[in-house]
Amino acid sequence: MAESPIHDIVILGAGSGGYAAALRAAQVGVDVALVEADKVGGTCLHRGCIPTKAMLHSAEIADQVRDSAKFGVRSRLDGIDLDGVNAFKRGVVDRLYKGLRGLIAGRGVNLVEGRGEVVSPRQVRVAGELIEGRQLILATGSHARSLPGLAIEGRVMTSDQALALDWAPRNPIVLGGGVIGLEFASLWSSFGARPVIVEALERLAPNEDLAVSKQLERAFRRRGIGFKVGAKVVDVWQSQDEVGIRLENGEELSGDLLLVAVGRGPNTDAVGFEQLGLELDLGFVVADRQLRTNVAGVWAVGDIVPGLQLAHRGFAQGIAAAERIAGLRPPPLIEAGIPRVTYCDPEIASVGLTEAAAKSEHGADAIETVEYNLAGNGRSQVLGAQGFVKLVRLAGGPVLGVHLIGARVGELIGEAQLIVNWEAHPEDVAELVHAHPTQDEAIGEAFLALAGKPLHAHV
Ligand SMILES: Cc1cc2nc3c(=O)[nH]c(=O)nc-3n(C[C@H](O)[C@H](O)[C@H](O)COP(=O)(O)OP(=O)(O)OC[C@H]3O[C@@H](n4cnc5c(N)ncnc54)[C@H](O)[C@@H]3O)c2cc1C
Repeated sequence: MAESPIHDIVILGAGSGGYAAALRAAQVGVDVALVEADKVGGTCLHRGCIPTKAMLHSAEIADQVRDSAKFGVRSRLDGIDLDGVNAFKRGVVDRLYKGLRGLIAGRGVNLVEGRGEVVSPRQVRVAGELIEGRQLILATGSHARSLPGLAIEGRVMTSDQALALDWAPRNPIVLGGGVIGLEFASLWSSFGARPVIVEALERLAPNEDLAVSKQLERAFRRRGIGFKVGAKVVDVWQSQDEVGIRLENGEELSGDLLLVAVGRGPNTDAVGFEQLGLELDLGFVVADRQLRTNVAGVWAVGDIVPGLQLAHRGFAQGIAAAERIAGLRPPPLIEAGIPRVTYCDPEIASVGLTEAAAKSEHGADAIETVEYNLAGNGRSQVLGAQGFVKLVRLAGGPVLGVHLIGARVGELIGEAQLIVNWEAHPEDVAELVHAHPTQDEAIGEAFLALAGKPLHAHV
């Protein structure tokens, strides 16, 4: 068996977590080998964040053309050219992919192409070759889950197949009212379809603040996006032209596609993790706050570690693991401070605790909230954005959570995350001047309201 030199770090998987670790390691002078079975960039770049956001941008343009008369511009939507949408999406992904490959090569990361299997805490085997390192970072990511016994084939698909479609569904059924389900339902609706979302929990966006879910449900109803909540699927069937489902209450629905968006499972099978003696929890790799696993010298980052499955969490964990191995001492990542954005229309953005979580953590009497409606925000009126900013604070104390819903509010989460992570008090933020007219100003107005001196709001 051929042998290669011993690297300081071997990283298995070059998605958001793995490539961030590799780039940071190389930056601090650590010799690193990065093993990737498919394309560097992983799910986020090729089958996740970027292609979905490119398509959602096409969807936004379609909606703007449809609504243009409202703004005094005459235009007519002739239809969606899905080949054109896909070409636009591919162009964005290809440019970023090329840039990423350039970065990886430019920083001197040793890219090893092929599927790796961990054979010891210091060795990964790739096509018969042993790649050896003093430390090992596991970053094999996640895959779309299905329901037990439900095969992904034909008209039953996950986001992987849905992103590669060369036809636009007319009446898709979307299983799951979480981030991925909401984004696809929104996208297809903008492309002219009548989607129906089926969610087992009691509301859409069940991980968000209750007020956000209610606002989203109202907005989706207005857009003609159907949804059934508290609904469990008990049977699925399909023919050449149709797919059907039966719910627990006996109701049947049919459509031209069933998107299964019921969560993502860790890629921890058949990669040698169990033989290594790694502690797993429902298949996820258990890691401490420093991202160390129970096996000395083995670290884990990204979607395989229990918690929020988000690319920016993977980046942050990858950077932190590389720095710790390099002898630096970055502070542990605080999960509750990681911002979350769902890019449906209206957008949802949040950071920190929901009102319910804050009340259960601190007691109902210790929590104050305020909602500032975007109706009072000049820029939102120009854009036709409806929604609100909701703040959750500890009475007499810092802001614990910021929750936003409305067109483009994802771009406002930057300020919100500084406020929550720096444990700012509303009175401190209320002193700061926000530019007028921006949507960002709505955050400033919400803080004025919470500090007891609302400006463009009724008391
Ligand atoms: C449709 C969709 C939309 C999303 N949108 C967003 C979004 O808007 N914002 C956001 O923050 N997140 C989003 N995500 C989530 C985001 O993509 C993931 O959180 C992120 O990609 C996780 O990074 P990772 O490095 O842990 O894993 P991955 O990106 O999954 O990368 C893992 C890599 O490891 C490789 N690999 C696996 N096993 C092996 C092996 N044995 N040998 C060699 N290589 C291996 C894989 O080929 C892959 O490239 C979305 C996901 C999906 C599916």
